[in-house]
Amino acid sequence: MSPQEMHDSYSRFIIPEEILKNNGYLYFDNETSNRAQYKRDKWSAYTFMPDTDSTRKCTRCSRLFNRKSTFNRPNLCQYHPLKTELINGLRYHKCCSRRAGTSKGCQSHSFHVHQQPSESVLKEFVETPRPVSESDYRSNKVNIIGYYDSCHWWASVWQINESITGVLVACISSDSFQIFGLDVEMIHTENGLEAARISLVDAKNRIMIDEFIKPEGKIVHLNTQFSGIEMDHLEHGKTLRQIHRLLFQYINHSSILIGHGLSNDLKVLHLVHFNVIDTGLLFEDENGKMFSLKKLAKHILEEDIQHGGHDSIEDATTTLKIVEKLVHTDRMRSVSSPSSPDLLNTR
Ligand SMILES: [Zn+2]
Ligand SMILES: [Zn+2]
Repeated sequence: MSPQEMHDSYSRFIIPEEILKNNGYLYFDNETSNRAQYKRDKWSAYTFMPDTDSTRKCTRCSRLFNRKSTFNRPNLCQYHPLKTELINGLRYHKCCSRRAGTSKGCQSHSFHVHQQPSESVLKEFVETPRPVSESDYRSNKVNIIGYYDSCHWWASVWQINESITGVLVACISSDSFQIFGLDVEMIHTENGLEAARISLVDAKNRIMIDEFIKPEGKIVHLNTQFSGIEMDHLEHGKTLRQIHRLLFQYINHSSILIGHGLSNDLKVLHLVHFNVIDTGLLFEDENGKMFSLKKLAKHILEEDIQHGGHDSIEDATTTLKIVEKLVHTDRMRSVSSPSSPDLLNTR
């Protein structure tokens, strides 16, 4: 596949901006506004609260608590870490197999956690940078000068008339495909969920970024069981501002970012971006909810992932592989009947 064909094939799966906005993706109203806007996502508990309101609802046990006294008055939070599943018509918690609604929880923690940051955070959001010029290396699909260690040669034959035939040979830097898988591991702090590790993987499955991030708020729970994050990881973690600088060396406004429920990753990174293929929005279950990445990996790739917690490299790589498989299937299909991808028509 030529770089242009590859880019065009992936572009067919980019989720329209309106759908992204309705699913929790933040945006700026216009070029001059410096405060990100958001629409409430119907499935997510994630919301921004007025700065004057310190009441929060615990994501785990649903109790209301005062954010300011999170650490002053430890209230034992009892909860089930895993969701419920339907077995023979009855709901059971996946964590402990207990019937839903019959117990307060099989795990406990001293402090409640929330997903309701203050609205002032909205002023800290930044949009991925516009290309600085036509030769912005982050946007270029064809890199004639090329980097020999990270490129492959691509040739196309063109014909002007019967007697003039030429061969265009270009060195294609695979970084210039502008397609990346992105995943962020999060922890609970007094401010809500904060980013603690970021992984950016390119279309050739090479790890471009894998960094720990130091949270701004006081840590409430590392959620190590799911995040894989431990306290010593964060000691030398980078600030979010440093992460932005690093990230913008690879991506710009026109990069295609692939992720699963990527609105949450972008929220904790304080980023606005719209060239997105969200594997969580490409499919939905019978209730209109998104499938877990684990389930998609099993059904689409026949792979078992997330043994013993999440790993942002594994998650980012998996979303890339899923979209790669869809692109491949779509290309096979469109040879016989060119049309928009069927998968998107289910929405
Ligand atoms: Zn349980
Ligand atoms: Zn709680």
